[in-house]
Amino acid sequence: MQKIVIANWKMNFPHEVYHEIKNSNIDTANLIICPPQAYLSQISAEVGTHVKLASQNVTHLSEKNGAFTGEVSAVMLKNLACDFCLVGHSERRIFLNETNADIKQKISHLHQQNITAILCIGETLAEKNNGQSHLVLTKQLKECLPLSASNHNTIIAYEPVWSIGTSICASTTEISEAFDFISAILIKEFELNLDLVYGGSVSPSSFTEMISIEKLKGILVGSAGLKLDILKELLKIVENKL
Ligand code: PEP
Repeated sequence: MQKIVIANWKMNFPHEVYHEIKNSNIDTANLIICPPQAYLSQISAEVGTHVKLASQNVTHLSEKNGAFTGEVSAVMLKNLACDFCLVGHSERRIFLNETNADIKQKISHLHQQNITAILCIGETLAEKNNGQSHLVLTKQLKECLPLSASNHNTIIAYEPVWSIGTSICASTTEISEAFDFISAILIKEFELNLDLVYGGSVSPSSFTEMISIEKLKGILVGSAGLKLDILKELLKIVENKL
């Protein structure tokens, strides 16, 4: 089973990376890109047939349309050939006060449109230090996952907040332990066996180490997905070329 690399460009447009994707100089078979919504339409038209697209967000307010200024719906994403969508990223939880209830609604809308939700969960440093990691992960899973979740439409991204953008990647042991815990909760509470990816300061060397984790379906990267040479290395690791 080949792993996937999900590149979250956040509020950036990496021109060099995009140029290489557009000109088919990158093997995109195992790549999902998450561009800013402002570029989705252009990117969908230009490369939507050879690279999988994810939105970074979807509105919780309506599945289709309505008087919701500034929002983008699941139907609109589907029309842009977005087959994936990030949900519950910690930056949105922290800076935009996104709640678990909002996230659950978003995932339901995505599922209605057959868009796979990539649900981000993870503990903060304070929660980790207070021994609350399991509590936080359990609460996020229980409160965010709708009944419509299945292994065809939902991926869980374990993204410890203390690792995102800090250059501190979780250790292989920490990731394995978190994955075992998440899998156990998913089975106990939902009878689900979902794909799990890890996100948080992943580099080619940390990816090489963690790739042996049996439950790891792939990685979600922020800064590494903006740099052409690093992204290419990550994709080579997936293809077992390194
Ligand atoms: C992220 O924001 O989801 C992320 C993983 O970022 P970074 O790789 O930069 O830590």
